[in-house]
Amino acid sequence: MISVPDLHRRLTALNCRTVAIQAPEGLKRFLPRLADELYHLGYDVIISGDPCYGACDLDLDARDQADILVHIGHTPVDGTERVIYEIWPVDGDLSVINEVIPRLTGKEAGLVTTVQHIHLLSQAASLLLGEGIKPIIAGPSPRTPCRGQVLGCSFEAARRTGAQEIIFLGTGLFHPIGIKLATGARVFACDPVTGNIEEPDSDRLLRVRFGLIQKAKGADSYGIIVSSKTGQCRSQLADRLCSLSDKAYRVVLGEVTPDQLLNLGFPCYVNTACPRLAYDDQVRFPAPVLTPGEFEILCGVRDFDHYEVDEII
Ligand code: SF4
Repeated sequence: MISVPDLHRRLTALNCRTVAIQAPEGLKRFLPRLADELYHLGYDVIISGDPCYGACDLDLDARDQADILVHIGHTPVDGTERVIYEIWPVDGDLSVINEVIPRLTGKEAGLVTTVQHIHLLSQAASLLLGEGIKPIIAGPSPRTPCRGQVLGCSFEAARRTGAQEIIFLGTGLFHPIGIKLATGARVFACDPVTGNIEEPDSDRLLRVRFGLIQKAKGADSYGIIVSSKTGQCRSQLADRLCSLSDKAYRVVLGEVTPDQLLNLGFPCYVNTACPRLAYDDQVRFPAPVLTPGEFEILCGVRDFDHYEVDEII
């Protein structure tokens, strides 16, 4: 939960009276209560109801009807103005760090996490130090402003540890697989909520992606998806990809949904929007959706041996 008194102080300092509030899908249900609390502090409140998946996905229409947009649950990925960010911390049990220590083979380990567990990182580092393991935590980068922070589209904080073994503190296997592909390190996915520890297997993902590239080779045209969202628009990359094939056309989309891809009817798409779309949502899509690097492989300008996980740098 965010601190409403702290938010009130920030809004007062910025002289805001009308406030738009936005949160990702899992936190949206808290918005009516937040709106109520802000209303009783004297604000006019607008709730953003559109889907939101990250700080790349700011509701600028809602912001423009207000003095400011309060974006909850993420840190900034760009310098969009009149937006303030409120992290939503999620606590967890750090005994998972104690449990992973015997599985480490070296005397140092990279340590990364997602923004909701950022506040646990120092304590996790202390636990490692206490057992003689040197924790390596990379500093901030433009897209990940917290130390040790990774995103589904940026594993820079893992790469910059330079470590052979990396501990990911967080839920799910998408980030750990991305870290493994981005670094080549041995990765331990330590979930502070369930207590599970897994070593992700990236080979299965690579086999699936290789099959998609093969399938896409027969396509007679390619839709190069360009996002209209604030922090996902990679138009220069889309231009470069279009230059690789005379059968490639740019398609501008806000939401990338199976229905839209079905209606557009391309036999293959290349995704320059959120990298997770191609990896996470392929099963829902009616045609192969390649990453930019996979399209380069298809066009013969990159080897599969030099496969790179898609990131927005
Ligand atoms: Fe998250 Fe995708 Fe946005 Fe990156 S581009 S911040 S992975 S939603």
